[in-house]
Amino acid sequence: MKDIELAPATLSVWAGEGESLAQGATQVPIVYSAAYGYPDVESWLDVALGRRPGHIYSRNTNPTVHAFEQKVRILEGAAAATSFSTGMAAVSNTLFALLAPGDRVVSVKDTYGGTNQMFVDFLPRIGVQVDLCDTSDHEQIEAAIGEGCRLVYLESPTNPTLKVMDIARLSAAAHEAGALVVADNTFATPINQNPLVLGADLVLHSATKFLGGHADALGGVLCGAPELIAKVYHYREITGASLDPMAAYLLVRSMKTLALRVRQQNENALTIARWLEEQPAVAAVNYPGLETHLHHDVAARQMRGYGGMLSFTLEGGFAAVKRVLPRLRLAHLAANLGAVETLAGVPATTSHVECTVEERAAMGIPEGLIRYSVGIEDAGDLMRDLEQAFAVA
Ligand SMILES: *Cc1c(COP(=O)(O)O)cnc(C)c1O
Repeated sequence: MKDIELAPATLSVWAGEGESLAQGATQVPIVYSAAYGYPDVESWLDVALGRRPGHIYSRNTNPTVHAFEQKVRILEGAAAATSFSTGMAAVSNTLFALLAPGDRVVSVKDTYGGTNQMFVDFLPRIGVQVDLCDTSDHEQIEAAIGEGCRLVYLESPTNPTLKVMDIARLSAAAHEAGALVVADNTFATPINQNPLVLGADLVLHSATKFLGGHADALGGVLCGAPELIAKVYHYREITGASLDPMAAYLLVRSMKTLALRVRQQNENALTIARWLEEQPAVAAVNYPGLETHLHHDVAARQMRGYGGMLSFTLEGGFAAVKRVLPRLRLAHLAANLGAVETLAGVPATTSHVECTVEERAAMGIPEGLIRYSVGIEDAGDLMRDLEQAFAVA
C-alpha cells in the first residue's frame, strides 16, 4: 500500500519506522552512537558518497532521527525531510541556507517572536532585506511579493493572534515572482493542514509543540523537494544543530497519538472559543474556527480542523489578565504550547518574550492577550476552570 492511501491517523502510528527497527524490535531504538563502523574502505565509501543508504556520523544522520524525519515527511506528503535540534534551528538554518546578501524576503509582522528576530536583526546584518507586511492584508502582501523577492515566509495560523494566511493564493503570487515559499505549520500540524499540497515549497515545524505534544522534547523539522532539503541539510550538518537521538525517540513515540490528540484539541478549542465569545468578562476571541474570524472562509478551505490554539482579551485589560491567570487550576502558566496539558500565558512571557514592548506593539500584539493552548482534558472541566478564574476579573 502506498503511504498516500493511508489516513493521517494510521500514518501517525505506522509511518517512517521500518528502516530504523532492529533485531525484531517493534519500536524504534534510541541509537546513541557518534559514528558508524565499516569492515572496509570500499563499503564505507559507498555510504559516504551516497551510493548506498547508511550512516557515517550522527551529526549528519542517525537511525532514530531518521525515523522521526520519515514520519513527518510522510504526514506532510513530502519527498524529503531533515531535522534540527529545535524549531528555531529549523527556521534559522533554512533562512541562512537559502538566502545570500542582496536577497529580499517578504513575510508578515506577527510571525513567531524568534522568527521575527531573524527578520529584524540577524538577516539584515548579513545584507538580506526583509519586508514585513500586515498579516491580514493579502493585497499588501501580494504587492510586496510582486516587487520581486527570493523567499516568501508564511506562518498560518499565526502566534499568538491566530491570523490566517491564504497559503494557496500567496504561494501562487510568490511563484509568479520566482520566489520560494516556506511555511511554518507548527500551529496547524500536518493533521489539520498540508502547506505543500496548497503550493508551498517547504514546510517546517517546531516539533517541540504539537508533534511532540508532551512538553518534554525539543526539536525542529523541514520537509520539501529533495534539492531544497539537500541544501538546508548540508548547512545543518556543517553548522551542527542536529536533533538528539533521545529527543527523536520521544518525538516518534509521541507522534503515534498525534492524530488522536489533535482531533481532541480541535474539538475542545472550538467548543471553548464559542463559549468564550458569550462570556461578559471576555472582550475578544481569536480562533480560526469561529465564523466571526476575519479569514474563517480561508481557514475552512485550507484546514481540516482549526487547531488547539486560541487567544483572547479580557474586558479589564492587562490588570485583569494578571489577576485571572494565577487562578487557573487546569493550565500551566508556561512558555510552551501544543501539549496534552492546557497552557496559558501572555505574549510578553511566551511567543514574544524575545521582543521589546515597542516591537510587540509594532507587530499588533496586545500586552493584555491571553494565549490559551488547549489540551486533551475534558472541555467542560476547562470551561468551568476559566469561569471560576473570570470571577475575579
Ligand atoms: C515555538 C515555535 C517556534 C520555535 O520552536 P522552538 O522549538 O521553541 O525553537 C517556531 N515557530 C512557531 C510557530 C512556534 O510556536
